[in-house]
Amino acid sequence: MSPFDTFVVVDWSGGNDRGATPKKDAIWACIARDGHSEEPVYLRNRQVAEAWLRDLLEAETAARRRVMVGFDFPFGYPAGFCHALTGGDDPLVLWDWLEKQINDAPNGNNRFDVAGEINRTIGNGSGPFWGNGLSRDINGLPRNKTDYANEFVERRVCEQQAKGSFACWQLSGAGAVGSQILMGLPVLARLRQHFAGAVAVWPFEPLDTPVALVEIWPGLINPVVKQAEVNGELRDVAQVRLLAGALSRLAPLALDEMLAVDAPEEGWIMGLGHEERLIEAAREPIAPPPLRNDCFALPAGVAWTPVEDALDMLRTRLNPVTGTETIPLQDAFGRVLAQDVIAARSNPPQPNSAVDGYGFAGGAPEGAHVLPLIEGRAVAGVPFDGTVPSGHAIRILTGAAVPGGVDTVILEEDVTCDGDQIAFRGPLKAGANTRKAGEDVVAGDVALRVGREFTAADLALMSAVGIARVPVRKRLRVAVLSTGDELVEPGEAAAAGQIFDANRPMLLSMAGAFGFEAMDLGRVVDDRETLRARLDAAAQSADVILTSGGASAGDEDHVSALLQEAGAMQEWRIAIKPGRPLALGLWQGVPVFGLPGNPVAAMVCTLVFARPAMSLLAGAEWCEPQGFDVPAAFEKRKKPGRREYLRARVRDGRAEVFASEGSGRISGLSWAEGLVEIGDGERHIRPGDPVRFIPYGSFGL
Ligand code: AMP
Ligand code: MG
Repeated sequence: MSPFDTFVVVDWSGGNDRGATPKKDAIWACIARDGHSEEPVYLRNRQVAEAWLRDLLEAETAARRRVMVGFDFPFGYPAGFCHALTGGDDPLVLWDWLEKQINDAPNGNNRFDVAGEINRTIGNGSGPFWGNGLSRDINGLPRNKTDYANEFVERRVCEQQAKGSFACWQLSGAGAVGSQILMGLPVLARLRQHFAGAVAVWPFEPLDTPVALVEIWPGLINPVVKQAEVNGELRDVAQVRLLAGALSRLAPLALDEMLAVDAPEEGWIMGLGHEERLIEAAREPIAPPPLRNDCFALPAGVAWTPVEDALDMLRTRLNPVTGTETIPLQDAFGRVLAQDVIAARSNPPQPNSAVDGYGFAGGAPEGAHVLPLIEGRAVAGVPFDGTVPSGHAIRILTGAAVPGGVDTVILEEDVTCDGDQIAFRGPLKAGANTRKAGEDVVAGDVALRVGREFTAADLALMSAVGIARVPVRKRLRVAVLSTGDELVEPGEAAAAGQIFDANRPMLLSMAGAFGFEAMDLGRVVDDRETLRARLDAAAQSADVILTSGGASAGDEDHVSALLQEAGAMQEWRIAIKPGRPLALGLWQGVPVFGLPGNPVAAMVCTLVFARPAMSLLAGAEWCEPQGFDVPAAFEKRKKPGRREYLRARVRDGRAEVFASEGSGRISGLSWAEGLVEIGDGERHIRPGDPVRFIPYGSFGL
């Protein structure tokens, strides 16, 4: 989403080597990608930091990733200083000048001497720099402000706005930034030289290179940093971690706005004036809370829970369990959006013509009109470069940006044209046959909401508003397991009493169709220890476990027995047909849907309960299968108490149901194209009565 792939924030230091053990006031750096900060890196001195930066930029540019690197010291001095020192106003010349003057080693450098020399040559001998931190005196460099005089501006324009920031002239004392500049700019100057042409410095140069260097100031996100300190994090560490994360989470438009400043000499603090947005972005998306142990608890004392109540329970108690990642738009079909997407550009970006015809201004009243044609045309992708004079018309084609001086287009079929003039008959309203800029989507608006599962049309929408990468949830990993001594694999020899495992291929393909990552955990015999080991393995690698069979309360119903034993089992006795009790629970924190073994019940329970539940776990919106009423092609009497789902299909506008309701009839599942849903109450359906048909597609298949 962002024009940059990688964000690096560096908390610089003007001091000497800080030793091998991570300490505060050293150099700290943090890399963030796709909204996630990596572990901050401790860089004990500037030599180590410079090498680290060079390696990082080599690697990133080789991988064709665009990098923004932020440093917490000014890139320029208050107005006038650069000119006095270099004879010009280009701060990057000052960078190179400093690079030549400054000598730096891990345990000593000449910054105070260079400052003293500057004070003596272009200052008045007692400024602009002050704060000699050495024990020896330096000619021209005051120790404190008592005999300090500065002929330059004390603070840059941005520093006047940034409360709590330090002036560039102060070289020592807590928080002083002066030494960081003197010891930082030479390093940046060398990086620029090393990566000649690939590095641009903001706001002095256009950021159209693979690497952008920007000035940042963690003071802008102080409230979030303070909170992290309260939580025990080292201040410098929190600063780089939070700021890098914030930059990588900023919407491209917000980033653009922060970068749009005019400060050609002094530079600027990126994000100044946009603190609220930065702070908001710095607050990390909190990890989803683990599912509560009682998330599947049904009300006590109710013999058979209505379907609606059971669904309500799932809807209110489940939350996303998957992490997030940012992926190219073309891979996003079927994936779940992890964050609102803000349109980076309006659609249409500019007013354009909806037809092939002729453009002019102001519409036309009733009657005959003749307008002279001007030279040139407006074509899609090739805008007309100029303004159409009043009373004139221009040839314009569909999709072409409407040129200046035009707001109305007349259809070419309604015009006679001799090459120099057009003639047509009014009336025509002003604005006719044009599309307004942003009439579809306006830049800055939310184009898609979090939880959206990307459709093909969504990909078109994202493209139209300029989004190339999207933050999505990692795919929900759904493990599928069959249980039962009687099961053998299709293709194997089946002895008497054995049947082929029909549920596993069905459930695996359903999980795939829902957009999840299906994991085949095979078959398990009715043996508690074997099943326990298989569930343990599944809990390691999956987000959800679907089992079939063994979910009731019989001797060989080991799924329910194990969940029971783990203390996290709920027997779901739902008033639904077809359906047997479901065993729902958590196995080592991973939700388990213990489906009935009967394939018809297993499929219906998956469609009705497991699918919306898994959607929530996957970070998607709750899904309500959309059905529609069609006349019944059958007759049926239904007793009150349970909701029923019949295997059905629509032919000639009428819902047919499968001849047998037998719950072992897999052929009926295959024959059907959806389900007819009949409500909980008593009903006598006669041919022609409306019934609710829900196509399999509405269930996500
Ligand atoms: P259970 O829920 O284990 O009592 O099984 C209920 C019925 O479904 C029994 O007739 C089982 O043989 C059958 N069944 C269980 N699992 C499968 C499966 N994977 N494929 C086909 N039938 C199954
Ligand atoms: Mg069984």
